[in-house]
Amino acid sequence: MQVLVVGGAGYIGSHMVKLLVQCGFEVTVLDNLSAGYRDAVRGARFVLGDLFERDVIEDLCRETGFDGVLHFASHIQVGESVREPAKYYRNNVFKTQNLLDVMVAQRVRCLIFSSTAAIFGEPVQIPIDENHPKQPMNPYGRGKWMVEQMLEDYDTAYGLKSVCLRYFNAAGADPEGELGERHDPETHLIPLVLQAASGRRSHITVFGDDYNTPDGTCIRDYIHISDLCEAHLLALQQLWAGADSAAYNLGNGNGFSVREVIETARQVTGRDIPVEYSKRRLGDPARLVADSRRAQAELGWSPRYADLATIIAHAWQWETRCA
Ligand code: UDP
Repeated sequence: MQVLVVGGAGYIGSHMVKLLVQCGFEVTVLDNLSAGYRDAVRGARFVLGDLFERDVIEDLCRETGFDGVLHFASHIQVGESVREPAKYYRNNVFKTQNLLDVMVAQRVRCLIFSSTAAIFGEPVQIPIDENHPKQPMNPYGRGKWMVEQMLEDYDTAYGLKSVCLRYFNAAGADPEGELGERHDPETHLIPLVLQAASGRRSHITVFGDDYNTPDGTCIRDYIHISDLCEAHLLALQQLWAGADSAAYNLGNGNGFSVREVIETARQVTGRDIPVEYSKRRLGDPARLVADSRRAQAELGWSPRYADLATIIAHAWQWETRCA
């Protein structure tokens, strides 16, 4: 099977490529390297290109005849999306439509799309299942929800089948230590905490300790990158087997506060982690926890690394390589 991974040089994409290659697929990566790294792409054909260039995608699809596409190429910072909505709608929506149009024209029928818990906005109930109201609160979440709706319409009209996977907090690293999280700038909690542990940063700043949670800090559902990738593989296979389009929420169903993450990181690393407190970050809901029972029931997905200490240990293995 021929698989195209758009954004395959990034954090989640590169782990996905490794899994697909291990499973024996022929993998092509299309990435503009705006946030990814060429050396993170292992064992796959690499094409430097951007979804803006419709001709490039068209030629690629014509030459190779892909059986499926996984699309990871997004900007991901909520705060930045508020300051620069044009950047987010152009990249995450408009360029995605280019990809969909080429897929329709070239009869590539299966897409796995990276969506996000940000499509739900402020939760009205916890845990969050697939039917939870969609009220995104920022351009990042709104763009992802637009694409999800676009995909429904493309299925109805053109028969393009898709699975939208709504990630809660992707975290951790390749258990074999070859790949990990390399965002620049890094904004995610676990890598920042571990950089404070390794000495690459002086401290971790906790954004708000006055939330309505037991310890006052935000609660999130951290999901291991390998488990996330496994869900993509199962979703792709499900589409290939003839299933209908679907959407799944992906998390472990367990919430951990920022303080609990820092405490677990102290235990895993055995290092001191200096903490400072600052005011809340704009747009952060107090609590986000996934109900992933549908993914478990329909995809047969079951997380292997649900334990927070394991997620942090794998991320620490990567951090000690980078530090
Ligand atoms: N967070 C924090 N300090 C940081 C980065 C994140 O306190 O330097 C908090 C953030 O407010 C949120 C949680 O950690 O409650 C997870 O944030 P992250 O950016 O990793 O993921 P998000 O939930 O925004 O997708």
